Amino acid sequence: MIARHFINGVWSDAGEKIAVEDPGSGELIGEVVLADPGQVDAAVIAADACVRRGDLTRPRPAYRLSLMLQIAAAIRAVTEEGAEVLCRESGKPLRDARGEFEEAARYFEYYGGMADKLEGRSIPLGEAYFDWTMREPHGVSAHIVPWNFPVGIAARSLAAGLAAGNCVILKSPELTPLALCILIEALASTDLPAGAINLISGRGATTGAALVRHPLVQHIVFTGSVPTGRAILRAAAERIVPCVMELGGKSAAVVHADADIDTVVASVESGVFFNAGQVCSAMSRLIVHESLHDRLADAIAARAQTLTISHGLDDPDMSALISAPQLERVEQHCADAIASGARALTGGHRITRSGYFMQPTVFTDVTPGMRVANDEIFGPALSIMSFTDPDQAIAMANGTAYGLVAGVFGQDLNRTLNTARQLEAGQVFVNEWFAGGVETPFGGTGQSGYGREKGLEALDNHLRTRNIAVRLNR
Ligand code: NAD
Repeated sequence: MIARHFINGVWSDAGEKIAVEDPGSGELIGEVVLADPGQVDAAVIAADACVRRGDLTRPRPAYRLSLMLQIAAAIRAVTEEGAEVLCRESGKPLRDARGEFEEAARYFEYYGGMADKLEGRSIPLGEAYFDWTMREPHGVSAHIVPWNFPVGIAARSLAAGLAAGNCVILKSPELTPLALCILIEALASTDLPAGAINLISGRGATTGAALVRHPLVQHIVFTGSVPTGRAILRAAAERIVPCVMELGGKSAAVVHADADIDTVVASVESGVFFNAGQVCSAMSRLIVHESLHDRLADAIAARAQTLTISHGLDDPDMSALISAPQLERVEQHCADAIASGARALTGGHRITRSGYFMQPTVFTDVTPGMRVANDEIFGPALSIMSFTDPDQAIAMANGTAYGLVAGVFGQDLNRTLNTARQLEAGQVFVNEWFAGGVETPFGGTGQSGYGREKGLEALDNHLRTRNIAVRLNR
């Protein structure tokens, strides 16, 4: 398969190509075309022309609602085909790849339901005036997505952006561009007008950088790492382009003494081993009351040792990391942790087999100053720390540069909710990591970024307010 460009309603594979690998086996499974500056320009011009024609904004908004529902149905129809491709290019288990397409369809249903309800308000200014607000799209919007959930993350911003009436240029990630083509083929099979969505692939430093610097781009939604976010913000600052930044995390769960151990262990399994830990909102730190620490750490290590690990197509509990360099990085982080005094209760090393597999890893004896307690590892590694009083736990949880999500486990309602209120994060989970869904707002504080995706709040990113103030003659 070749990941092609989709510009102004036309697919093209013209241009330099690089290989796409199956990280579960190391085999080459396809190619991706790298967009050159001319193709970036063509994609932006197509989106701009669609904005100027008003293809999405002139008709009654129920038109966008019907487009979005068509898109959701089209995505559901390609879920099996798309999931297999996503599983192979990303290394993730097949059921998780399928889940990403299902989530993508849900985003279009959810924001489709809002497309005809983006209302303004009237503002009383006394008898001499009539005043109202309108919520209108930014226009040409560039969306840049990472490799860990390419389909789900692209769909969450595309759905909100199109529902609001923006025309989009989506830049796919270099490592996982293939399934995104299947997603965009689904969009292209509907009545969506040419230019409303354009897909380009390419390297960040060239294609991505050319896109965010393009003079016709009026809005940027970026999901990825902090250094790239900074680079994009610098470029956006030149033309004062509004941005949404969904960046990394080092999220912590606080476990109080009365927490249910089985509940915590189940949440750790999904929190840190889902997608082999390559999740911005992974539970990478567990801050446990000292009375539970040893029992819980042993239970987590025992669970980690029972996880099935294999190629994604076998649908194991955990599969490969995305690439050889990523495996190298994660293993190096683990070696640094051990060298600085952390104890690996289990894991810490790569698994010797074809593909890029890492052992599920659980560290104890972690202290807040260690790198393993502060840096985003982006792999299946959990750091367990202990606390004696709740204020200390909250200080530890809030003690990194990030603030994407956080969690708290416990039965005492007052203590649990007081902890939830004090955790500095855009979303706080209580007694279940990853609680929530497409309906609940998600996004960071601190170096995890700003703006919100998912939920009704995401629409605020994709709309701006115009006020009309009318002086009346009597
Ligand atoms: P990355 O920052 O390296 O790349 C993300 C995207 O940006 C890719 O498409 C890349 O090609 C592009 N890019 C790179 N340099 C660019 C530039 N100068 N200009 C424009 N585009 C550029 O991130 P990654 O390694 O793909 O993803 C992992 C990171 O993403 C982690 O830090 C993770 O926490 C974060 N992430 C955040 C969320 C969230 O919703 N908050 C979700 C998933 C991943």
